[in-house]
Amino acid sequence: MATIAQMRPASLQPSVHTFDVAIVGGGIVGLTLACALRDSGLSAVVIEAQTPAQTAARQRAYAFSPMSARIFQSLGLWEQVEPKITHFQRVRMSDADCPQVVNFRTQDVPTTPGGAVYYGAEHPVLMQALQAGLRQANAIDCWYETRLQHIQTGAETAELVVERAGQLQRIRAQLLVGADGARSQVRAHGNIETLGWQYWQSCITTVLQPEKSHQNTAYEKFWPSGPFAILPISNNRCQIVWTVPHAEAKALLALPREQFMTELKRRYGSEMGDITMLSEPLMFPVRLMQSQAYVRPRLALIGDAAHCCHPVGGQGLNMGIRDAMALAQVLKRSSGRDLGDLKLLKRYERWRRTENWIILGLTDTLNRTFSNQIWLLQGLRRSGFWLMDHAPWLKRLALRIMTGFFGRYPVR
Ligand SMILES: Cc1cc2nc3c(=O)[nH]c(=O)nc-3n(C[C@H](O)[C@H](O)[C@H](O)COP(=O)(O)OP(=O)(O)OC[C@H]3O[C@@H](n4cnc5c(N)ncnc54)[C@H](O)[C@@H]3O)c2cc1C
Repeated sequence: MATIAQMRPASLQPSVHTFDVAIVGGGIVGLTLACALRDSGLSAVVIEAQTPAQTAARQRAYAFSPMSARIFQSLGLWEQVEPKITHFQRVRMSDADCPQVVNFRTQDVPTTPGGAVYYGAEHPVLMQALQAGLRQANAIDCWYETRLQHIQTGAETAELVVERAGQLQRIRAQLLVGADGARSQVRAHGNIETLGWQYWQSCITTVLQPEKSHQNTAYEKFWPSGPFAILPISNNRCQIVWTVPHAEAKALLALPREQFMTELKRRYGSEMGDITMLSEPLMFPVRLMQSQAYVRPRLALIGDAAHCCHPVGGQGLNMGIRDAMALAQVLKRSSGRDLGDLKLLKRYERWRRTENWIILGLTDTLNRTFSNQIWLLQGLRRSGFWLMDHAPWLKRLALRIMTGFFGRYPVR
């Protein structure tokens, strides 16, 4: 980070803007918090490095949980989102190509908007709804193309110096929130250490068009090299998230297109007929990370700034949306207290950090138990599949955790 002295002539004092809350990061998680604060009587500013169009343009579809759907409904954004996303009628989980399959159906999930096991939502759809939801919010400012230059958290306020349209501006807030993703500068400023590891795997994503209807069915196939997910999205397209060891991922991407498709079809299966690739495959590293603390005096972390998880089960964004809603609730119930008070912020940390540990542990266990060919584990997991398919209470319990209906709900 450049120092302020390097950035401006000595005589030029940046103008000062005062808010209750300053949120660094205008991704889905940061904007969810901003939307949740619209009716709170608190003022907030969102500081985002990119333009609105750039932040919305990411080519990714998410498995969007029923609890996230309820949160979007409570924020008045669901009407805009719902027609553009898919409602999974079924999620099929299998151990490689073993015929024993676990089917999760809508009746296994608590009541959800529009009735679905899960949803397939594309990044631009969610971002455009959130950005539109903030346009009329008088007390919330969104500062795009704004670069963070300096952070200082003191006894009374958090102070930021940012560069916006070539000018330096000073922001003062009671609370600074880091919603700035996995490489969070806010987390670094708070000297918050992280726990975790890089997995031996990377994941490849691409969007496909199957010949036959995807029938709103999502698949999680556990191959020994890693999980392979098929997410049905709008216009009969599917996004795949294909996890394999790093070297294999690199080798797959280096293959000529025809050979890549042959490998892909082997994992994809033939239920939907032939498949056509619609987007260039992209590769992402996979890691587990949990921050040692989510809060410091005058500072709180949400979303990927606080934690990252393996993509199996589609949990990362959903956890972040619940963080944002939980923090908003704590702030709204502060009854005039200083929003940067550590005791107040600890309420948010106690609520979310433990629940996120459960999901991190679950995704890690799923990946490790299935991504191998150890015969003992293979026998155990296939018995587990049989048990889950024959014990409805077990299936419902697993689904409750994966859909966000456990612990303390951030919305009713
Ligand atoms: C391949 C893949 C598939 C996935 N699938 C799913 C899924 O199906 N379901 C699911 O729930 N999750 C999924 N995830 C996880 C999900 O993508 C992340 O958890 C989620 O995007 C995190 O959102 P965020 O808003 O916290 O962070 P980000 O999306 O990283 O947003 C951070 C924002 O902060 C801005 N920013 C950063 N630094 C600064 C700064 N210094 N100043 C100003 N702005 C800044 C960035 O420009 C960005 O807009 C997947 C992840 C991967 C890699």
